Amino acid sequence: MYRKKGGIFPTLLRYAPLTLTTLAALVPKELEAEIEIVDEGVCVLDENIEADLIGISAITGTAVRAYALANHFRKRGATVVLGGVHPTLMPQEAMHHADAVITGLAYETWPQLLRDFKNGELKKLYTQPENINLSNLPIPRRDLLKRFSYISYGAVQATFGCPYKCDFCAVTATSKNYLHRPITDVINEIEALGSHLIIFVDPSPIEDKKYIKELWRAMIPLKKIWSGLATVKIADDEELMDLAVKSGCKGLLIGFETVSNEGTQIINKSFNNVSNYKEIVKKLHDRGITINGTFMFGMDHDDKDSFKRTVDFVNEVKIDLPRYSIYTPFPGTPLFKRLEKEGRILTKNWTLYDAQHVVYKPLKMTSEELREGQLWAWKQTYSIKSIIHRILGSGVPPYVPLITNIGYRYYAKKLKDFPISKMEEIQFKWNPNHDSDEYILKEEIA
Ligand code: SF4
Repeated sequence: MYRKKGGIFPTLLRYAPLTLTTLAALVPKELEAEIEIVDEGVCVLDENIEADLIGISAITGTAVRAYALANHFRKRGATVVLGGVHPTLMPQEAMHHADAVITGLAYETWPQLLRDFKNGELKKLYTQPENINLSNLPIPRRDLLKRFSYISYGAVQATFGCPYKCDFCAVTATSKNYLHRPITDVINEIEALGSHLIIFVDPSPIEDKKYIKELWRAMIPLKKIWSGLATVKIADDEELMDLAVKSGCKGLLIGFETVSNEGTQIINKSFNNVSNYKEIVKKLHDRGITINGTFMFGMDHDDKDSFKRTVDFVNEVKIDLPRYSIYTPFPGTPLFKRLEKEGRILTKNWTLYDAQHVVYKPLKMTSEELREGQLWAWKQTYSIKSIIHRILGSGVPPYVPLITNIGYRYYAKKLKDFPISKMEEIQFKWNPNHDSDEYILKEEIA
């Protein structure tokens, strides 16, 4: 589940989700199940849908709606399974709202759960062992999606997890191992896709250099174009950057996080050396790679001047597509544990854990100043003047950055209206303990 009815962005700016199509592909053939995928990011869920078993995958920001839907469907007689990032972080909480909870990647446990369900032997909790074999995974059932609902159909994942331990990151809180699929499997999947544009969703793909260089070499003959994520470490290796370009890389999302080295220490991401940022951006721009640079506000070193310092930096180095989020303590992360110990968690309303709302007490400013500062940074960065300055000055062909900047200008304008108008139905019946059946769809309350 992502935001109901598409969140801020119009649905046409989304790429096809990989989780739901992968789960569909893992349904054992012998069960002869009829499968329907409902992606709330792009369509409206029929709350009267009839099903024997409903699986809901939720991130923290959608957990409360997932619980409300789970309660709704269970009352109607369906068996409900909850999985995804939030149930993996908080399985005990999720179990209050589901017949079964599945944690981790679910490649082996989801088929097992379905067989148990068929045999009337459903267990309450299924935990995927970490040492999972990622060979010969079934091809995701993209045929079950509405093809023209998405900007791209070609999401692919080659590596899983991350070897680093940034304190705010849910990736390492949900998976301890850094794993990769066999290269031939990934290449076969890309070849079968029928999409020229590939989106790699790997959170941290370049940490095993030998593997990723081999994968990118194998991609060269496919003549695809792709975008994905990387750490700043990509710029340490000229050969790696050159292979990225040869394999079709046009854009990278890079987590710069902060323009202060004190900040990178605080968040345990000290391999991000701020003094090198300018050179990193230049090396990638020189190769024609656009940069989607992400920054956070609200770390313990951040004060009221941090917003301007970050916006100035983004303009100076000409980041093609900057994004600003609030430093958010997702449950299960080291950051959450620290802030809870310090008595600084303000709410456990998971709906507000979307990296756009302040859910803890910042150290050097008020919560309101943090939220206002973040909105100000978005507004400044997506002013026409800033867009033109960054796009024309980067040296990268301006067409795609121009379109994406216009998209983010729209996002920046809508951001301040997001909380009330979009979250009404889930804040209506808020229960801070997460342990009862208080999550009710607004339609049912009425
Ligand atoms: S490098 Fe990225 S994926 Fe890895 S722990 Fe840090 S934020 Fe998470």
